[in-house]
Amino acid sequence: MTAQGADIIGDPTQAHCVAIDARAPLYDGGIVTRVDAVSLGVMLNRDGVRFYDEGEDFWPKRYAIWGRLVAMQPDQIGYCIIDSKAIGRFMPPVFPGVQANSLPELAQALGLPEPDFMRTLNDYNAACRVGSFDHTVLDDCHTEGLAPAKTHWARPIDQAPFFGYALRPGITFTYLGLKTDAQARVYFGGAPSDNLFVAGEMMAGNVLGKGYTAGVGMSIGTAFGRIAGTQAAKSALKEAAHAVA
Ligand SMILES: Cc1cc2nc3c(=O)[nH]c(=O)nc-3n(C[C@H](O)[C@H](O)[C@H](O)COP(=O)(O)OP(=O)(O)OC[C@H]3O[C@@H](n4cnc5c(N)ncnc54)[C@H](O)[C@@H]3O)c2cc1C
Repeated sequence: MTAQGADIIGDPTQAHCVAIDARAPLYDGGIVTRVDAVSLGVMLNRDGVRFYDEGEDFWPKRYAIWGRLVAMQPDQIGYCIIDSKAIGRFMPPVFPGVQANSLPELAQALGLPEPDFMRTLNDYNAACRVGSFDHTVLDDCHTEGLAPAKTHWARPIDQAPFFGYALRPGITFTYLGLKTDAQARVYFGGAPSDNLFVAGEMMAGNVLGKGYTAGVGMSIGTAFGRIAGTQAAKSALKEAAHAVA
């Protein structure tokens, strides 16, 4: 469609992008391979460095953004590190995590630079200010004097066994699509088409620019599918009436 000159809308760098197990198949949006333990531990890049607030928000918002955050890291890989306190508090992933009895052992098993890994974990553990841990609310467990901060659910990673998951970005859908309007018309050079309409993921960028609202994919498809179908039928009837006349 873009090659045919259709107008587009949305940010090509944005997508609903989930952090999925690096062992997942190449084409995988992350239904069974996602690892949603990020908020219970820390996320490191391949250099053993944290890069974003793991405690910023609840699923599904955090679910939608972590793939992109990983995609922006060197080699597009991240490592979720948790300890035994996290076990049982997140959806069981399809692949088991890499397990170790100490943090240096875990760094080695994951192939991460041990000194950097240990510096990051030690700094994080020392910065944790644990209040009343509650994973169902934005609780008061946070870090102090750490950059980036972990603003909720921050507890030291200090209870063996330790687990690590290598994570890759998994694109669910992009926020780039065909520009349209309330009648679901496709635009060419700023002008709406009389007989070409669009619905669903192809125009999702008109509705959502970043982040996620649960169920928005199906809602866009249902709402605009109905509009586009109605408009297409009207257009076809008009053409038929014109042909008869
Ligand atoms: C892993 C994953 C999880 C999701 N979870 C949710 C969720 O929990 N809630 C939610 O609301 N949404 C969710 N979505 C989004 C939702 O699935 C989509 O918004 C919806 O399926 C899009 O419907 P669609 O008809 O626009 O496109 P699609 O379902 O992608 O249909 C497009 C069809 O066109 C076909 N096609 C492509 N090119 C051609 C061609 N040249 N000729 C003929 N046919 C062609 C394709 O084969 C496909 O069958 C999820 C998506 C993924 C991938």
